[in-house]
Amino acid sequence: MLDLKKIRADFPILKREVNGKPLVYFDNAATSQTPQQVIDVIVDYYSNYNANIHRGVHALSQEATDKYEAARHTIQKHFNAKHAHEIIYTSGTTHSINLVANGFASILKKGDEIIVSALEHHSNIVPWQMLCEKTGAVLKVIPMNQDGALVMEAYAKLLNSNTKLVFVNHISNALGTINPIEEIIKKAHQVGAAVLIDGAQACPHIKPDVQALDVDFYVASAHKMCGPTGSGMLYGKEEWLNKLPPYQGGGEMIAEVSFEKTTYAGLPHKFEAGTPNICGGIAFGSAIDYMNAIGFDAIAAYEHDLLEYATKALLEIEGLKIYGTAKNKTSVISFNLEGIHPYDVGTILDKLGIAVRTGHHCAQPIMEYFKIPGTVRASFAFYNTKEEIDTLVSGVKKAKMMLS
Ligand code: PLP
Repeated sequence: MLDLKKIRADFPILKREVNGKPLVYFDNAATSQTPQQVIDVIVDYYSNYNANIHRGVHALSQEATDKYEAARHTIQKHFNAKHAHEIIYTSGTTHSINLVANGFASILKKGDEIIVSALEHHSNIVPWQMLCEKTGAVLKVIPMNQDGALVMEAYAKLLNSNTKLVFVNHISNALGTINPIEEIIKKAHQVGAAVLIDGAQACPHIKPDVQALDVDFYVASAHKMCGPTGSGMLYGKEEWLNKLPPYQGGGEMIAEVSFEKTTYAGLPHKFEAGTPNICGGIAFGSAIDYMNAIGFDAIAAYEHDLLEYATKALLEIEGLKIYGTAKNKTSVISFNLEGIHPYDVGTILDKLGIAVRTGHHCAQPIMEYFKIPGTVRASFAFYNTKEEIDTLVSGVKKAKMMLS
């Protein structure tokens, strides 16, 4: 059981009003809110030890370096990576995916095949299309069904000895579907393909174990798990990270530089050119600590309860259709009211202080599949309540009345 009163008190933003109404924040799949404990870490950094890392002998630089590297260990432990140097700091999921896609440009050849799913965020589609343009590799797509679940028999048929890489999200941002990544990874490995899992939507709800999954790459963003924007991570198996060339050149990522030949630093610095988001990395670690103190099992159970409660209440509204009805899903509800544009519903909800996301959610192929311009997406976090869901449901009813 979660102590909701105590948890909500940690989030100062939840006390604010929007348009004269108490804020109901249901846009957690886009960005989660930040607890005071993490805000304090950010303030402490800029108030007390703001300095560049790794290259200073002075006390502030040492302190910042120690905290930054300690946060890397926190992230390593959280994801159960074998080595801390398998955790690469990035600016977020998009950066992490681009880093890997760029690296594979020197590995893939014309005619190689790479596999994506129909359920992806544009961040896990476009970098790979760019990779195909560069290399002549061919992009194949695992189809989805009307429930918003992947068709696994079709996946099995796509795999062959030409398959070099499979990249799939752990949880769909648009529909909330939890994908069977264990099976996806196992099958890909049977044909010798590597796998990247986009964990942007999973990490706020689940604690992934990269060694148990035996996944080659796993990526996430801090801002979806109570941390700051502009901070994220790439986990990569040591042997893969050693194989990939650096993504960017610059300071920090070198061993020695001369005009004749430059050699690169070892992991993780090879992929961390330039001054990183130092405060962001440290705060990412503290966000992980915060979520672990609450406990991912308790978070998942509570959010599942919210999902069931909201699904039942919303489906009682005539003309409301939910997209994404897979059995295995997380606390995301994408819906439309018959004959009403999602943007109009979102605008009315905003007037009532309710923050939802409307549109294609950076997942246009999913919208195309359902032949809709977009959806209204309400996504719940562990600090939301059933009372807030009641407010959403009455807001949707009001929007329906006004717009019908
Ligand atoms: N992948 C998924 C599944 C997402 O939901 C998102 C963001 O919504 C991203 C990738 C991109 O994350 P970021 O914008 O933090 O890089």
